[in-house]
Amino acid sequence: MKALVYHGQDHFGIVERPKPQVTAATDAVVKLSKTTICGTDLHILKGDVPSVQHGRILGHEGLGTIESVGSGVSSFKLGDRVIISCITACGACHYCWRGMPSHCTSGGWILGNTIDGTQAEYVRIPHADTSLHHIPSATDTAVDEDALVMISDILPTALECGTMNGRITPGASVAVVGAGPVGLAAVLTAQLYSPVLVIVIDRDPARLAVAQRLGATHIIHAGADGDVVRRVLEITDGRGVDTAIEAVGIAQTFELCQDLIGVGGTIANVGVHGGKADLHLEKLWDRNVAITTRLVDAVTSPMLVELLAAGKLDAKALATHSFKFSDVEKAYAAFGDAGTSQALKVIINFD
Ligand code: NAD
Ligand code: ZN
Repeated sequence: MKALVYHGQDHFGIVERPKPQVTAATDAVVKLSKTTICGTDLHILKGDVPSVQHGRILGHEGLGTIESVGSGVSSFKLGDRVIISCITACGACHYCWRGMPSHCTSGGWILGNTIDGTQAEYVRIPHADTSLHHIPSATDTAVDEDALVMISDILPTALECGTMNGRITPGASVAVVGAGPVGLAAVLTAQLYSPVLVIVIDRDPARLAVAQRLGATHIIHAGADGDVVRRVLEITDGRGVDTAIEAVGIAQTFELCQDLIGVGGTIANVGVHGGKADLHLEKLWDRNVAITTRLVDAVTSPMLVELLAAGKLDAKALATHSFKFSDVEKAYAAFGDAGTSQALKVIINFD
């Protein structure tokens, strides 16, 4: 089969690899129909994610059809259409029981990171029963598969690490720093909780325009609209926001969130950080502020399938570009140079 393989910082390409096989009774092998590129793939290519070894097949979002299945898998059979979770987990260990399957100790792995991923014609999924989700059948409801594929990672990331960790309540004020696909998915999922202010900050005016279309009440062009902190304080009557979601993954924006947060607020860090960031306790110690971090657990995926099926989440709006798998390197170029291409979520099709 053809697979996109990481060869070390800034080096990757399509190679021929043996088709994966079921190696444990709880495995399934999925033939991919769609995969995507995530901001985390760009972090991997920059060398920010040391757990990714040379030779790893990249990709952690995908959907497709069950090609083969182990004897211990009970919820899925040959030919089932499935969404692949970006992490695999046993469902039974200490961390799985505590709702953190991304830290599963019984063979849980991160696709395209600690095990081979979805930017390939086939992928082996360990613990298939607890790591795959059925695609709603066309007779129930037809949900666009370009939206469903985002249930692998960016939708649960935005909901779990951003919106839910950020403890958004009805009437709250929210700042989302970073209007990439994850930040924009946070703009969408935040609205499930009826905040009154959703302020989105980015350096890319095209992405800010999308944020506004998706429900941002205010947009701030970092670097062009003057002092970002002063602008947020003006919008919030000097109080700062109740929730600040960091969806970039650099020290500067984590520190910015500390200046935007109001008394009693929550900073929800979503970004993957490859380096140190400062924590300004001298500004925060008496402000009753909580800071949360999280690796996506994808425990909300069934809920997200329901939300998409009910038309409550316009994730399809994030899918701006599509490429054939044979053009995956062009897809990376478009995603990596989003300032020029205006790419948000790039969908890669195998069929
Ligand atoms: P992305 O790179 O497409 O988007 C980042 C956005 O930040 C861009 O729009 C960029 O213009 C903006 N930006 C950069 N510097 C800025 C600055 N100084 N001020 C304001 N905006 C700035 O990435 P994405 O796919 O949207 O992912 C966002 C982050 O979420 C990444 O760090 C990604 O690795 C992370 N992530 C985390 C998890 C998790 O489990 N915690 C899961 C998936 C993705
Ligand atoms: Zn586990």
